Amino acid sequence: MRLYLDHNAHSPLRPRLRSWLRERLEAPTANPGSIHLEGQAARAELDRVRRLLLAELGASTGRIVFTSGATEANNLALHTMLGAGSVAAAATEHASVVEVLERAGAGGASVVTLAVDGSGLIDLDEVEALLRGGLRGIALLAYNNETGTRQPVEEVAALCLAHGAHLHLDAAQHLFRYPWSHHAGIGSVTISSHKAGGPVGVGALWWGAERGPEPLMSGGAQERGARPGTEPGWLVGALGQLAGGPDFEAWLALGTVRDAFEARLVSELGAVPNGGGALRAPNTSNLWLPGYETEQGLMALDLAGIAASAGSACQAGALEPSPVLQAIGLSEERVAASFRFSFGPEHSGGSGTDIADRVIAALRGE
Ligand code: PMP
Repeated sequence: MRLYLDHNAHSPLRPRLRSWLRERLEAPTANPGSIHLEGQAARAELDRVRRLLLAELGASTGRIVFTSGATEANNLALHTMLGAGSVAAAATEHASVVEVLERAGAGGASVVTLAVDGSGLIDLDEVEALLRGGLRGIALLAYNNETGTRQPVEEVAALCLAHGAHLHLDAAQHLFRYPWSHHAGIGSVTISSHKAGGPVGVGALWWGAERGPEPLMSGGAQERGARPGTEPGWLVGALGQLAGGPDFEAWLALGTVRDAFEARLVSELGAVPNGGGALRAPNTSNLWLPGYETEQGLMALDLAGIAASAGSACQAGALEPSPVLQAIGLSEERVAASFRFSFGPEHSGGSGTDIADRVIAALRGE
């Protein structure tokens, strides 16, 4: 049986959602923008999910804008933030943040790359100094998709609140997996569906301020003008099914599995965790496996029935060295022998040691 260890790239559709979607395919559909009864029902469904997402975030104000996914939600937030002034982010952020800022910087916008330490953590003193100097926005990953590193969200939120700056959080690897705490000072949040077992093709942006977000596209008044285009009712409905924490227990239990997995790889292969030393998402293990070159190792794993990755699938195609691992200061040699294993609910309660043994056997060609 195949072993799927790539939940940070995509967490397969939950069986309960598959049945839910199947049932929904039988029901009538309509355009939520239409004024007739069918349209009103479709609109009511969108609004019901908006309320669920607000509750999930613990936010009493602000608005939910449905998007095609996390990439679009990050773009929408940053586009609006850049319109208000200088924005900072670390090089360890997702490409949908880093590349937007690079392009904006090349076009003359004021952007700052935040320094990170060997675990990928930003420096709060630097953040405070930048805010004192007039920085208007910060984009931050709640949990890093490659290393799992948890940033000091609460502290940055407090600093942003004190200085009137906008904090954008990319919660693609957090929301619906682990409980979320709202903090005054969080200005916007990117929400993913398929990282938590929902369908791909839908996501959302929570936007806290009264004004904004500013649309990236033109052509319709949907989402109160923030995101033109007819909303995908089925997908939004399924996204709503993730709310309320039905999977929290399974995701939270993965820390035990991950730790046993790592312990075995440390003792058998001399593995060294990348981004260790900081708080990490319980499902994520990014390891340097000395002597095992990444591309060959991933092929050996795949042939042995194990799906893992080198890092973000958004960099995939050609296997480029991970910009995240490079940004945290790892040597070229170490980056070229690093692997990301990301677990999902089906592994909770299982044996991390058994999973590690399969990985070890595959890498050794046994
Ligand atoms: N942010 C993070 C943290 C991610 O892990 C990903 C997916 N790798 C994205 C954004 C983009 O998600 P999508 O490709 O589904 O738009």
